Amino acid sequence: MLARFIAVISISGCVAIAQERASLTSSIDARADHYGAMSKQIWDWAEVGYKEAKSSALLRDELKRAGFRIEENIGGIPTAFTATYGSGKPVVAILGEFDALPGLSQDTVPQHKPLKAGEPGHGCGHNLFGVASTAAAISVKEWMNANRVTGTLRFYGTPAEEGGGGKVFMARAGAFKDVDVVLAWHPGDSNRVSMGSSLANISGKFRFYGKASHAAGAPEAGRSALDAVLVMAHAVELMREHIPSDTRVHYIITNGGAAPNVVPAFAEIYIYARHNSMPILDNVWARIVKCAEAGALATETRMEQEVTNSVWNVLPNRPLATVLDKNLKTVGGVPYTAEERSFAEELRKSFPERDKPVESAAEVQPFEAARGGSGGSTDVGDISWLVPTHQFTAATFVPGTPGHSWQSTACAGMSIGRKGMMVAAKTLALSAADLFTSPGTIAEAKADFEKARGTVQYRSRVPADQGAPLTYRDKSN
Ligand SMILES: [Zn+2]
Repeated sequence: MLARFIAVISISGCVAIAQERASLTSSIDARADHYGAMSKQIWDWAEVGYKEAKSSALLRDELKRAGFRIEENIGGIPTAFTATYGSGKPVVAILGEFDALPGLSQDTVPQHKPLKAGEPGHGCGHNLFGVASTAAAISVKEWMNANRVTGTLRFYGTPAEEGGGGKVFMARAGAFKDVDVVLAWHPGDSNRVSMGSSLANISGKFRFYGKASHAAGAPEAGRSALDAVLVMAHAVELMREHIPSDTRVHYIITNGGAAPNVVPAFAEIYIYARHNSMPILDNVWARIVKCAEAGALATETRMEQEVTNSVWNVLPNRPLATVLDKNLKTVGGVPYTAEERSFAEELRKSFPERDKPVESAAEVQPFEAARGGSGGSTDVGDISWLVPTHQFTAATFVPGTPGHSWQSTACAGMSIGRKGMMVAAKTLALSAADLFTSPGTIAEAKADFEKARGTVQYRSRVPADQGAPLTYRDKSN
């Protein structure tokens, strides 16, 4: 009898848990139109890094109305904020981004048609990123409240992911120091959880100061800053042969002088180096600095260097990836209506490669267990070396859409993007709820994190006295 009684209790317990879990996704579905409108509003504003005043405030106020405690101006960044609900352990965090990219303005049509030529657009879908994460946080908060779940839920409003490194400065301010686990997602062209990483990046500007003179009348009196840039660039080109072959080095000359008949007194080169290991990248960067010193030495000019930005490679977390994968498979992919399908087919005509079928948006891809790497860099990497972190992608873009393109801006502003955003919101909500109810998974995530980072200690390569580059998107920069 007793056994039967216990069995009855546990079955009714399971039903109750299933109903609770259903509320996590049904509450997001119930507000689909509202969240869709928020994402379209942020898409319309298309505010670039550290200038996301309206976009950040829209998310912040939504969370505030839902009962979250707001902390603003994190790390001295006006558009960085946190929204916290509950108290005590565990502390489960969800990241949200909202910055746009310069020059990617585009209408929600499948042909190239900027709304305002040269103006910014949401070509990385961060308008969807921030709203999906906000929706997930609100749904988890309601679920915690209804089921008396204890712990702390925190949303991070993280600005300027695109080259401004907002998270680097939020982390430096100690904003993540009590966090146990971090969940995030990213807009993409497939629904997928992967153990893939990203590239650590150090970028900087090298400025050379020479001596101007008449390039024909008195060339011997001049010392060319442009020559220094050219020597440096040549040294970097020769160095490529002797650095790990999976390193990436790319640069532009941002100032090469004013006129051919004046020996340039000033020149500047802007250079990025990337590798999937920060210790290896440190070595490469030290050698790039030597190339710059060689340029100055050979041309009798003076060199100044500035590290403008640096982010770490993402350290994936297998236990968190497993939770996300399970829930992404429960939620499912993004099936298209006939209208969306014809949009997708038309958009696809502009893709350089058309090997991914449109139907794949409706599928969830198999878990990618290989620790591969992507060619990009993200400041989520910095967080992932401080706290167990994992992110996944949801199909907000038509399969095969190139990254950072007018095509991805178009998708992020219409129903295909919004449907992918809903998949992300529900997956995040279910996963956060799993973590609150499974302390064992959090312990596993921490053990995996310790093992994966080994002896490497996180320290940002952005100089400690250098604040967030709040004006890096100013037109004159
Ligand atoms: Zn992005």
